[in-house]
Amino acid sequence: MTTATAEALSDAARTFVSSGPHRLLIGAEWLGAADGRTFETIDPSTGEPICEVAHAGADDVDRAVKAAAAALEGKWGAMPPAGRARLMQRLADLVEDNADELAQIESLDNGKPVKMAVRVDVPQAAEHIRYYAGWPTKIEGETIPVSWPRMFAYTRKEPVGVCAQIIPWNFPLLMSAWKIAPALAAGCTVLLKPAEQTPLTAIRLGQLVQEAGFPEGVVNVLTGDGETGAAMVDHPGVAKIAFTGSTAVGREIGAKAGRGLKRVTLELGGKSPNIILPDADLDAAVKGSFQGIYFNTGQACNAGSRLFVHRDQFDTVVSGLAEAAGKAKVGPGLDPGTQFGPVVSEEQLGRVTSYIESGKSDGAELVAGGAPAADGGGYFVSPTLFTGVRDDMAIAREEIFGPVLVAMPYDDLEEVARRANDTEYGLAAGIWTRDVGNAHRLAAMLKAGSVYVNVWGPTDPAAPFGGYKASGIGREMGHANLDAYLEVKTVWTNLA
Ligand code: NAP
Ligand code: MG
Repeated sequence: MTTATAEALSDAARTFVSSGPHRLLIGAEWLGAADGRTFETIDPSTGEPICEVAHAGADDVDRAVKAAAAALEGKWGAMPPAGRARLMQRLADLVEDNADELAQIESLDNGKPVKMAVRVDVPQAAEHIRYYAGWPTKIEGETIPVSWPRMFAYTRKEPVGVCAQIIPWNFPLLMSAWKIAPALAAGCTVLLKPAEQTPLTAIRLGQLVQEAGFPEGVVNVLTGDGETGAAMVDHPGVAKIAFTGSTAVGREIGAKAGRGLKRVTLELGGKSPNIILPDADLDAAVKGSFQGIYFNTGQACNAGSRLFVHRDQFDTVVSGLAEAAGKAKVGPGLDPGTQFGPVVSEEQLGRVTSYIESGKSDGAELVAGGAPAADGGGYFVSPTLFTGVRDDMAIAREEIFGPVLVAMPYDDLEEVARRANDTEYGLAAGIWTRDVGNAHRLAAMLKAGSVYVNVWGPTDPAAPFGGYKASGIGREMGHANLDAYLEVKTVWTNLA
């Protein structure tokens, strides 16, 4: 950590970061990896190491699965629903009580603007836990009107068991909350693996889980890399896998889950179309589309990365976006003036830069960005916009996961719906219009798990979120994600 970075942190955040090397939460204890391995987490705003973190291997996964299974057989399994609810409320309170520290750690580790972590990541994580804290006391079975004489049948909803939860680096604390909250509400126990790029807030959340008073083994936090994740997926003691990340790894996990007949939910990539109809409020559409792609430096699975604008408004919209891109304040996450932070890693910088190069060599026209946006050794890319893009170019088809937008003109509604759907993905889609008929006609035509009308990307713990096609299996949020952590048992009793 540089001196300037350390000075930008509160005492609490500095104390946490410098208390490393950070360990694995397994059962009641914080342990080093069985084989002693560690890795460095890097500050993407400077490229400098922050601290050392334990690297969990298969032996650590095995210990954590045993601890999680013991918790199910022990105190946690025996705890009444109101007890689970109370612990979850306490955890949400602790996230709020430590909000500034969590936001600073997130900003340091991920690069995102600290003011965004304060406004979005931390409060939404707390809200998510709070929403699911309402569920344990409302998980009801049913009495079934079976057509047998003197037979009584009812269903019980039971936790699926030990869950492997693997998350990406773009919203580390928020994704941790999205994963653990429904599992805990259902009465499951978890092994949570944050991405190797951003392990710190999951570790801090593990400390808060302990402080809230959860029994040992209910939440285990395993830092590590893809090997750690694979060992979790492969472990025979794991009943359910919940994964958010790339479609490539999601396919692999889905195949393994199929062979092992494990329950699985997958929240994967996207190349989401954002459509501006000719009658849209253009100011609102430009502002919303700008945020829709560049929010979190383009590192959002539901980023609106393909913009379709009616030919009549194309030049106006493109010049509005290019002007806003030119004014964007790109800089270190902990700088309070920063609007867009760096991308998360050197690897991600290389990936985004190579897509920008491929766009140029395929003949697309760069109208904004495309170059490193700030100095200081960090992984900065300025908001980038291409026009002159054909639907078959790599920049128009593949998920870039960076601040790169392709803008393309269209002529009519049927044409734009067909082109919007011509992708392997189906996570989100946007429509900007004042015509309520066209809005809902198009909303029904678009093959996506979320459709946004005159807005981009709101989420709410009560509203299902997930993908069609290669964007995933299952839904997060709401009742749908609770069901993903429950088995249905039917009990038959002969009353004769
Ligand atoms: P990734 O490899 O899919 O990583 C996501 C999580 O899966 C991380 O915790 C990762 O561990 C873990 N993992 C990796 N290989 C695994 C395996 N074989 N078995 C089990 N777990 C495994 O994603 P990435 O490499 O960080 O990013 C690559 C691309 O994925 C991005 O450019 C973007 O296109 C996409 N992505 C999508 C989302 C999304 O929200 N849908 C989020 C992030 C990235 P480690 O990272 O610690 O090794
Ligand atoms: Mg990091």
